[in-house]
Amino acid sequence: MKKVLATLLCVLMLVGAVCVVPAFAAFTIDDIPTEYRLCPDKALDLEAPAVAGDPFARGWEVKYRGGDWIPYGGESFHESDNNYTEGVSVRYFAADEQGNYSYSNVCKLTIAHVPVGQYQHNDEEHWRVCDDCGGRADVGYHTSLTSDQENENCTVCGAQRAGRYSVVKKIWDWLMNFIMSLIG
Ligand SMILES: [Zn+2]
Ligand SMILES: [Zn+2]
Repeated sequence: MKKVLATLLCVLMLVGAVCVVPAFAAFTIDDIPTEYRLCPDKALDLEAPAVAGDPFARGWEVKYRGGDWIPYGGESFHESDNNYTEGVSVRYFAADEQGNYSYSNVCKLTIAHVPVGQYQHNDEEHWRVCDDCGGRADVGYHTSLTSDQENENCTVCGAQRAGRYSVVKKIWDWLMNFIMSLIG
């Protein structure tokens, strides 16, 4: 009976020791947003989350299109990063001196401007101004002309532009009139 009790006590002590001493010091990292939008050609400007404890190393990691998590080096993101189903995500890490890592939740990025207001245009293109960075969003060429009408409006921005064939048509008309006058 004593032997059984002793064995039981030993087992209990062992279990207790394993439970009390964690495998490594895990860091608690505050939540980051699960989704975040930023303008194209800009570096990540998310605020770093608070980390409980005193990590040896901390920073962002990035994952492109379902690839591996890699350290984020401050590079710019581009609209093409949205492509494919998984797009681009970031997460925050904290690590101890032994290289044990703790991670925040994952944040999915959307790389896009915030276009507002009326279209603006030049001879070739139209666009709207981004409310966030002031850059050009929704950039596109004016809708193509299908006839030789001199003034047609772009169906997107309403800009009026000279017909594509108007110069050729003017020369042709002048030539026809000239020949007619010679014959006439
Ligand atoms: Zn923008
Ligand atoms: Zn247009």
